Amino acid sequence: MKTIGLIGGMSWESSLDYYRILNELIKEKLGGLSSAQCLLYSVDFKPIEQWMHNNKWNEIANHLTIIAQKLEQAGADFILICTNTMHKLFAQIQANLQIPIYHIADTAASKIKELGLKKVGLLGTMFTMEEDFYKIRLQDKHQIEVIIPNQEERKEVDRIIFDELVLGKITDPAREIYKKIIINLQKNGAEGVILGCTEIPLLIKPDDSTIPVFDTTQLHAEFAIEKALKD
Ligand code: GLU
Repeated sequence: MKTIGLIGGMSWESSLDYYRILNELIKEKLGGLSSAQCLLYSVDFKPIEQWMHNNKWNEIANHLTIIAQKLEQAGADFILICTNTMHKLFAQIQANLQIPIYHIADTAASKIKELGLKKVGLLGTMFTMEEDFYKIRLQDKHQIEVIIPNQEERKEVDRIIFDELVLGKITDPAREIYKKIIINLQKNGAEGVILGCTEIPLLIKPDDSTIPVFDTTQLHAEFAIEKALKD
């Protein structure tokens, strides 16, 4: 089994799920006492969140690159960055490593293509929804059209992530807001919706939507296990 390197803590609420899913999948596939061989570097999210909102992305890139290199030196065969937003820095971090980082958007794209969908909605932080790094990868590399909620809805989606979900606060009113936004994405032609923030699956489950939801935490972890068990 290969060793999975995880950069987590953004937030730890979703890293817990990564750890659980990786281990459950290995148990399911190999049985008995088998569990996932992994290295988790869990960061202190507070300074990172401040850098993010003060537009200090170089500081974050340097910090996460050092962490990725430590995981590489410690024996990781590949790396998962356990947050969609930090994939804004994917190229910078990957350029300083010998081992691959598996991009979270690619793992969502594989599933979307498997279902034959062409147009999907994207929910995530303001950075993920509004900037190009995520949408363009889906459009150019995978030919998947991506739509996002309107400005007011995007503010709500982002507010709920940073004021509630990353703090472990899961509430019915927040779920209702997300459900309405998903319906509006569907009205605008979305055939599915990417839960493009690793905490959104804590709030939204497949039954909360009449179109397929793509849980990026689950799909990223599934992809890692496939790779970890490949020769
Ligand atoms: N975990 C979230 C994501 O997947 C948001 C936290 C962050 O900004 O890293 O984007």
